[in-house]
Amino acid sequence: MITIKNLHKSYNIGKNKLDVLKGIDVQIEDGELVSIMGSSGSGKSTLLNILGILDNYDIGSYHLDDILISNMSEKKAANYRNKYFGFVFQSFNLIAFKNAMENVALPLYYQKVSRKKRNKIAMEYLDKMGILDRATHLPSEMSGGEKQRVAISRALVTQPKVILADEPTGALDTTNSYEVMDILKSINETGMTVIVVTHEQDISEKTNRVIRLKDGLIENHN
Ligand code: ADP
Ligand code: MG
Repeated sequence: MITIKNLHKSYNIGKNKLDVLKGIDVQIEDGELVSIMGSSGSGKSTLLNILGILDNYDIGSYHLDDILISNMSEKKAANYRNKYFGFVFQSFNLIAFKNAMENVALPLYYQKVSRKKRNKIAMEYLDKMGILDRATHLPSEMSGGEKQRVAISRALVTQPKVILADEPTGALDTTNSYEVMDILKSINETGMTVIVVTHEQDISEKTNRVIRLKDGLIENHN
């Protein structure tokens, strides 16, 4: 599903060039549960943002199924992004003045689903995540673990092919971290591809395959 070849990405910082990805090859199959692991600053988020068509790369190629993802218009990129990807972030990125149900329903609003229908679907996802009783709570009234369950519900609500999770457990204690990984595993078991970025060994061990990034290159596959 995802084929990356000889991918390079650098950032310009003033007069200097910072080479972050220095020619990496990545192959991820449909239905995988895989982690991208590396220390802070190793380029994990850079790679995930390229995968999610949130950022461009400099050299190499990225094929998503048979589509070459390269220098697309923002409109085309948004179409593929919405069709393929659901995003989960370390800091949840929930809208502060909307309750849990409204946060989950928001992507369906952009798909022009009626309020009644989108709220019903949102409630179904909150129920699946075990937080139906938090539906009318604002993010400020929820724990980190609850907020991440809301964010995962929001990522799922459009039925994407792939979940891209950038340090999804980074703001959680160990118990909630492992529960979130269990949720991601159960999502993967429904057939969805799940890609988790982490700098924590114990989190990467919860996935079926680890891709290690070091010094801009992939260290090994297993
Ligand atoms: P990770 O997610 O593994 O911590 P990142 O991909 O966020 O790493 O960052 C890799 C390197 O690129 C870091 O040195 C970071 O400071 C730098 N970097 C990330 N984004 C930008 C940017 N937009 N402009 C300049 N440098 C950046
Ligand atoms: Mg990062």
